[in-house]
Amino acid sequence: MKIVFATGNAHKLEELREITEFVTGSADFIEFSTPPKPFDPDENGSTFEENSLIKAREANRLTGMMTLADDSGLCVEALDGRPGLHSARYAAGQDEKIEKLLAEMEGKTNRRAKFVCAMTLLDENGEILYQEKGECHGEIALKRAGTNGFGFDPVFIADEENPEKITLAQMSDLQKNRISHRANALKAVLRHMPLPIK
Ligand code: IMP
Repeated sequence: MKIVFATGNAHKLEELREITEFVTGSADFIEFSTPPKPFDPDENGSTFEENSLIKAREANRLTGMMTLADDSGLCVEALDGRPGLHSARYAAGQDEKIEKLLAEMEGKTNRRAKFVCAMTLLDENGEILYQEKGECHGEIALKRAGTNGFGFDPVFIADEENPEKITLAQMSDLQKNRISHRANALKAVLRHMPLPIK
């Protein structure tokens, strides 16, 4: 099965391939590709679901293929859910985003947060097949640690399967891909398909 993944983020594409291999036990069921670059649709929706649909529609328009899109972000309790939908535009670069978040969190006792990921799968004609959501709960670290992953990974300590309380950026790819919001959303999508899901 060939699916276009509507992203310009190479890290996300790699994660998606690894999650699919991990949950189906094979890299052969789905061949993921990406839309032609630059891929930069106007993400002006008011929910993660809407934005994932906007991205999926644009990739489907460009390729005429079955398309999967995700939209994700970090929602922090003490910041009333920010940066949320605006996570990608929270600050200029990734280091700046982390610095800004740690500065906003200074002195806060409630450091609870969650990553959210909405996914939309469209058929070749642009009709919605499935929309699913995944979450990953945890807290914002006091300082950054680790170099794996991307985005806010160096300051996010997930609850699940994490006895040593390390950040997502300190985990191996496999560890992150077992518990991440993107893994949970993708698993929910894949469960609709005739695939052997672990
Ligand atoms: P999107 O590409 O519009 O979904 O942007 C989501 C933004 O949320 C990214 O630019 C990151 O800052 C953040 N984000 C989403 N997923 C993750 C993740 O798995 N780890 C760290 N940051 C993430």
